Amino acid sequence: MLPQHPTRRELIRAALGGAAGLVLGAPRVFGAVQAKPDATGTERLADNLFVIRIPGETNVVAHTGNGGVLLVDGGSARAADALMKAVASLPGSGPVHTLFNTHWHPEQTGLNEQIGKAGKTIIAHENTRLWLAADVTWPWNGQRFTRLPKIAQPNKTFYTTGKLDGLEYGYIPDAPHTDGDMYVYFRQQNVLAVGDAMSGAGWPAVDWTTGGWIGGIVGGLQRLLTVVNDDTRIVPGRGPVLTLADLKTQYEMYAAIYERLSKLLNSGRGPSEAVAAQPTKEFDAKMGNPDEFVRRAFESLWAYVTPDA
Ligand SMILES: [Zn+2]
Repeated sequence: MLPQHPTRRELIRAALGGAAGLVLGAPRVFGAVQAKPDATGTERLADNLFVIRIPGETNVVAHTGNGGVLLVDGGSARAADALMKAVASLPGSGPVHTLFNTHWHPEQTGLNEQIGKAGKTIIAHENTRLWLAADVTWPWNGQRFTRLPKIAQPNKTFYTTGKLDGLEYGYIPDAPHTDGDMYVYFRQQNVLAVGDAMSGAGWPAVDWTTGGWIGGIVGGLQRLLTVVNDDTRIVPGRGPVLTLADLKTQYEMYAAIYERLSKLLNSGRGPSEAVAAQPTKEFDAKMGNPDEFVRRAFESLWAYVTPDA
């Protein structure tokens, strides 16, 4: 059983207050392990649905129709020009009318200002808007993120689920990556975009500063299993398009890791001891060096399981 998902903001604040001084990890970018180099270009998933890959950037899903384009995630600000060029060259393309932010990270929200200034719709979970309206600092490497100007913040937020022109979207309250994670499901094409709630390229980043945690990875995968069917194609934030089999494999792997980390925590171990215990050992050959992931995943348990630690 997963612990009950607690009330978020007070809990996170409490955890940050307790843990912020203890987590001076190696200052390198986390979650950037690539299983294989991103192919440059666009992958067609259906007549009107595409994955756009700009090298080094997050996957962007583009849906064309009704004289315009809907995007799930917008890449980083530095990739905005390249992305808009790729969007313009899609068959049936037109102006972007809607942009989803699957969470607040800069790799998802770099197009927001341009879309907001054009008066178009930016949809996100309310928690994502709150993080984008605040300055955030990652305690593990000191990286700072400045709030977005009002015009670049999501202008249509939701709490649970929503529908729009034949697609369905929903919150992932388990908080696998942040506490604003969401999916977008294109039912007709049977394609599910999940942002960084799943990784297709190595170990995921657990951003516990803004609510993500290892129990949420397990709970989130469990939840996504109820959304997909045998033929659903799943587009993660990074890496290739995934299948139901990948989802099941990941679920089993993270459930095992979650249990091991919980045991380490309950026996009074700290993050370095958790890393030394090699709780991901049998997965490392496939997944890559786990140290940063294990450290962050362990720290994330502090925020959720022991808020008074
Ligand atoms: Zn992210």
